[in-house]
Amino acid sequence: MNYREKLKDKKRIVVKIGSSSITHPETGALNLTKLEILVRELCDLKNTGKDVILVSSGAIAVGRQAIGVHHRPKNVAEKQACAAIGQAQLMMIYQKLFSEYGHRAAQILMTKNTMMNHLSRRNAANTFEELLALGAIPIVNENDTVATYEIEFGDNDTLSAIVAALVHADFLLLLSDIDGLYTDDPKKNPAAVFIDTVDQLDDQLMHMGKGSSSDVGTGGMATKLSAAKIATSAGADMMIANGEDFHVIHRIMQGMNVGTLFPGHSDENFDLFDILEEESN
Ligand code: GLU
Repeated sequence: MNYREKLKDKKRIVVKIGSSSITHPETGALNLTKLEILVRELCDLKNTGKDVILVSSGAIAVGRQAIGVHHRPKNVAEKQACAAIGQAQLMMIYQKLFSEYGHRAAQILMTKNTMMNHLSRRNAANTFEELLALGAIPIVNENDTVATYEIEFGDNDTLSAIVAALVHADFLLLLSDIDGLYTDDPKKNPAAVFIDTVDQLDDQLMHMGKGSSSDVGTGGMATKLSAAKIATSAGADMMIANGEDFHVIHRIMQGMNVGTLFPGHSDENFDLFDILEEESN
């Protein structure tokens, strides 16, 4: 059986989307058509009986738009103010769209401290479990309004992998503005070759992930590869695929051949706490 066919049997799925996938590049405003497709796809996945968690960026991008900040926020206070406005607006839209399809969206905001502290980590895990048991769809973001560099994950690729490990998800789907992993940056090198499956994340491969962060998000290929390391060691399969058309979600879940797949391999020495400690150093 083709490995991708097994994706049909996944039970707990984390989907991560970046700010650039839900905003119009010309204006930075939300792309409502794409958001509607995203929510419909996730609701339909939920309708097949799977647990679904969405890690959504966009707080800062939406806040920028709302108050007319046309540059990337320059200082922490400005970034936090944009996030405070944008996160609330983003959730309002998610709540509306999910409820149109009869589903309940729930907001979970985390910082690195949530994960470093045993008690708050256990609380977060319990909240996820309870929400999933109640049939809700948790929507996760970094708590940008209070996170400063000492306590931030910094990018939602890493956050989504940590969430996947925390909730024992069996699949993490990173939807990006690129089809998957290439041997080089395909925008700069036309000879770059697409990589279909990555069985081993060795050093050579980790170096391949050159920083290609966009104007609105923070992640590049490097953060996606470190997310892959965390998620696959926690036993989840991970995929990087293009979020240009969110209909790709059901195609992936049907086992179609898109994106770069990183098969999970439960590492018995895996310890989420060690990973977070390492990240902090
Ligand atoms: N948490 C940030 C936001 O919602 C984005 C982080 C990221 O794009 O990785 O605006």
